[in-house]
Amino acid sequence: MKSLPSPKNNPGQRPAVFLDRDGTINEEMGYINHVSRFRLLPDAVPAIRRLNEAGLPVVVVTNQSGAARGYFSPALVEEVHRHLQDLLAREGARLDAIYTCLHAPDAGCSCRKPKPGLLLQAAADLGLDLSCSYLVVDRYMDIQTAANAGVHGILVLTGYGLGEYKLFHDSHPAQPVHVAANLMEAAEFIINKERDLA
Ligand SMILES: [Mg+2]
Ligand SMILES: [Zn+2]
Repeated sequence: MKSLPSPKNNPGQRPAVFLDRDGTINEEMGYINHVSRFRLLPDAVPAIRRLNEAGLPVVVVTNQSGAARGYFSPALVEEVHRHLQDLLAREGARLDAIYTCLHAPDAGCSCRKPKPGLLLQAAADLGLDLSCSYLVVDRYMDIQTAANAGVHGILVLTGYGLGEYKLFHDSHPAQPVHVAANLMEAAEFIINKERDLA
């Protein structure tokens, strides 16, 4: 495994943990067109809380093209994200920010993953150092996002992860720096790496 650059190389900028949403934090259900379809995976709250306690900014980056497709309103996405923050807050965890692409795939926007726009915007807004940050995801499409944004990709085996790993682990041009069973194992991997660098 390659060694990871230290945040000390970029004074004043912080590493962050970016998280995909569907299949990584919550159960992969297809389009989440009602808040009742949003179900947190069992380790999501403790994993995010551990990252909070480690002092790492935690930022969700998610494609929700169902808004542009007319499957749900942009307001529904906001409602789901308020619900997510409420569920976390009840157990002492929080997301520092959520960045969403609401556009259709053919809209030509610069934010729909695997384009890096959501991560670049978050880095500019929050003063984050992408070169020592992580993106945790359940699909190789998003391992490509990590490569495009210059962050370290971690694949979890929840959501689409297990099937994607079997299909792509020796063929996809972009590969994760680590494969974790779930978000908690990914969080522990990241925290251990940060501790090694400290
Ligand atoms: Mg996903
Ligand atoms: Zn977009």
